Amino acid sequence: MRNDPSHTAVPERKITKQIADEFIICYFLFCNVACVYPKIICPIIIMNMRQEDVVPAIKFDPEVCVRCETVDCLMKCQYIEFACTSDAKAEKLKINAGENSRVLNECLTCYACQEYCPYNNNPFYLLVELQEEKEILPAPKPIVEEQLRMMSPKGRITQQKVRSPVVNMCAFPMLTGCVRGKLFEGASVISGNDIFCNIMWLHFAKNSAIRERVPKMIDNIMSFYLTDSKIDEMVCFHDECYGTYTSVAEAFGISVPFKPVHLFDYINRRLDELSDYIKPINEKIAYQRPCSNRLSPETDKMLDEIFIKIGAQRVPRKHDRENALCCGGVPRALQRDELADELVEKNIRDMLSTGAKYCVFNCPFCMATLGQEVAEHGLMPVLVSDLVLIALGE
Ligand code: SF4
Ligand code: SF4
Repeated sequence: MRNDPSHTAVPERKITKQIADEFIICYFLFCNVACVYPKIICPIIIMNMRQEDVVPAIKFDPEVCVRCETVDCLMKCQYIEFACTSDAKAEKLKINAGENSRVLNECLTCYACQEYCPYNNNPFYLLVELQEEKEILPAPKPIVEEQLRMMSPKGRITQQKVRSPVVNMCAFPMLTGCVRGKLFEGASVISGNDIFCNIMWLHFAKNSAIRERVPKMIDNIMSFYLTDSKIDEMVCFHDECYGTYTSVAEAFGISVPFKPVHLFDYINRRLDELSDYIKPINEKIAYQRPCSNRLSPETDKMLDEIFIKIGAQRVPRKHDRENALCCGGVPRALQRDELADELVEKNIRDMLSTGAKYCVFNCPFCMATLGQEVAEHGLMPVLVSDLVLIALGE
């Protein structure tokens, strides 16, 4: 059971609006009349900006880290070595103080420390905040800029009446065909860049893109689909969307007016309704847990329930659950090919050692990264939803 200390909601950085407002008030009430400084070097504004700059915008309590004895966030990290707990603690306290730490350079952006922290103190979001502030980009700058352009909202969204269940395919419209059969009977599918969850910027040290774009995406989901159709919940086909509208939104202080439903939760409910149709699969299945599931670790147990209901065995892999390894897709995108190859190889070797017949993915990106390798090694790559459809005889 996770501890849940009451967080200090550290004031959000509001450089743009707040400082702009203060500047206008200051200028008209005082500066315009009496100030001797040129406005561009106004000491009040500079002081204010500096103070805002060192205050993390992420919901986080530094005192919880000071008292923390295990420093699980870093001690459990599978990609960075620490000599001992005190070494890890020293690095964590540097990050909390906004100072340079080798962690900022060595982090693979696997999201796992979000799950490892027993106090929900948002270590990964804070780390990304500092990477961005210090311009320590995990990927070369031109790639980050290209991605920002490519994944920007396109304004091609149109009003659509939808009906429950509304399934959000995010930026994967090519996977719309997965929403089919008895499992998704009557579902409406929504997708596209204008409702892209934007969580990927955590891999690119761009919390600012999350702050700027996620509220707009939420607004699009409401105004183009849910509000008019009087629907207040949305099934997230991808863990990333669920992580955005739950964990990220909470930590970044972004309000979400609809109820996000995790795909595993939805499938479990449908399997209860469709229990008469289930034909047990009776196969050993290796699961490739995605990084984004670290943001909603409680949903991992829901997958166990699904496996039980469809009569499949989730094989005990070394690299599953808390020890899951990145599929290799992120380091590949960050141009760290050697590490990507190593992770692919470790994952495949681990799966093969279990005697599994299928490798099941819940992340289309993981499947695109590992699917072919998995198939070449004799395992059948399949998405969770497709595996369930097989169990339902489709
Ligand atoms: S982030 Fe969590 S695990 Fe890490 S030092 Fe702080 S309280 Fe401990
Ligand atoms: S995101 Fe992953 S690689 Fe980075 S510090 Fe956290 S656990 Fe380590």
